[in-house]
Amino acid sequence: MVQPYKHEPFTDFEQQEHKKAFEDALKQVKEQLGQHHDLLINGERVRTDDTITSTNPANTKQVVGTISKANQELAEKAVQSASDAFEDWRKWDPRARAEILFRAASKIRRRKHEFSSYLVYEVGKPWKEADADTAEAIDFLEYYGRQMIELKEGKAIESRPGEENRYVYQPIGVTVVIPPWNLALAIMAGTTVAPLVAGNTVVMKPASNSAVIAAKFVEVLEESGLPKGVLNFVPGSGGEVGDYLVDHPKTALISFTGSRDVGLRIMERASVRQPGQNHLKQVIAEMGGKDTVVVDKEADIDTAVDAIVVSAFGFSGQKCSSGSRAVVHEDVYDEVLEKVKAATEKLTVGNASEENVYMGPVVDQGAYDKIMSYMEIGKEEGRLVTGGKGDDSKGYFINPTIFADLDPNSRMQQEEIFGPVVCFTKAKDFDEAIDIANNTEYGLTGAVISDNRAHLEKAKYDFHVGNLYFNRNCTGAIVGYQPFGGFKMSGTDSKAGGPDYIALHMQAKTISEKF
Ligand code: GLU
Repeated sequence: MVQPYKHEPFTDFEQQEHKKAFEDALKQVKEQLGQHHDLLINGERVRTDDTITSTNPANTKQVVGTISKANQELAEKAVQSASDAFEDWRKWDPRARAEILFRAASKIRRRKHEFSSYLVYEVGKPWKEADADTAEAIDFLEYYGRQMIELKEGKAIESRPGEENRYVYQPIGVTVVIPPWNLALAIMAGTTVAPLVAGNTVVMKPASNSAVIAAKFVEVLEESGLPKGVLNFVPGSGGEVGDYLVDHPKTALISFTGSRDVGLRIMERASVRQPGQNHLKQVIAEMGGKDTVVVDKEADIDTAVDAIVVSAFGFSGQKCSSGSRAVVHEDVYDEVLEKVKAATEKLTVGNASEENVYMGPVVDQGAYDKIMSYMEIGKEEGRLVTGGKGDDSKGYFINPTIFADLDPNSRMQQEEIFGPVVCFTKAKDFDEAIDIANNTEYGLTGAVISDNRAHLEKAKYDFHVGNLYFNRNCTGAIVGYQPFGGFKMSGTDSKAGGPDYIALHMQAKTISEKF
């Protein structure tokens, strides 16, 4: 029997010994920066002339590493190798597959601060966020391994006298995994190992902004005993390699996490039957969010302030779960806004590879330019309360920003900004607050801060989001505790870290015998 699942505890950096251990890890990883990482196809390292250079968004002169870059020919080899490896891997004992995940979890746990340090350097994560990202990766490995062991015998169904019926789960085939750069270790690891433990083989195309951390994770899986060809690692461009993998007739399942537009593009392309393709492709897509913290008039104001600040500015608002909208009852609007402003102005912004700041940079120049363009839109549509400024001379730093008095239909309140910006809208009562909260094309997370039980009950039915939180922030779902995924344009509601997740990577087979 395996031990019951428990989530990996977070590190308390207030304790000097942990702070010191993390600083040491940052120093050690700094020495390793600049290394080159190759593709992995059929168990072989493949080096290419064309490379991706990954830099520290807090200090763009610092190269975190270079990574070989696949083209269509190499993507083809990767799919063929995954397809060949599937024949054997699918028949492995699920428990033996799960044990690879458990070994990988142990290895990462032992090197926790090292992995978190890579997250600090490669995507500019503050320590706390980096530590949570690594903990979540460990959680996915532990949780999905256990879930596969539970699914091993299938599920109970009825049999009449003289027959035996079984209901079992089987893997689907070659899975293309396209993870995001924001939960650069956790989501990349989770979306890779879920299909693997289910018996599928994988071609993973990491995000270019976080390809080094992905390469480090692939090494851990290899060291943990993953056979050749079962996981193929092909960094490359979305337009060239991503489309090719999605379109491939041998691709059976696509697991994507990223923007709405790319998700929709994948859904459309996956629906086209290619020559030689005799199956429907399955798509798991986790896309964007425009998530709201609703504050009722009967609410603990400090809880509301904390929920808004944490939801908006954790990892500089670069989470699809980020609370980028605050919809506040008119009776408490001014007070909440004033206190959120005061708390926001205390937040520290800087280079997390040098100090333990609350917020690091945003991920790259494209993100910086896009977020800064919204500062101008915000000034036209609403009132700038604090922030609004950026500095990209050394890294991509943007001050935490608050806009107030926005129309619910304004661009600021409708479009996903994916940066450290929160927009306030006033509601005349709780019903209107929920209507405003629902008035977006997304439906991922939401929070309600209220002491009114009837209002919380209403929100359970009427607030249309996949992850609804009461009297807390709307980010930071924990594997096995708050299964994560959204409605509407936020995706297929796959609920990562939830009890149904592995089954989404499998097909159920009914076997009925008469005797
Ligand atoms: N699962 C994360 C959370 O609950 C967010 C994932 C994402 O941003 O993609 O905050």
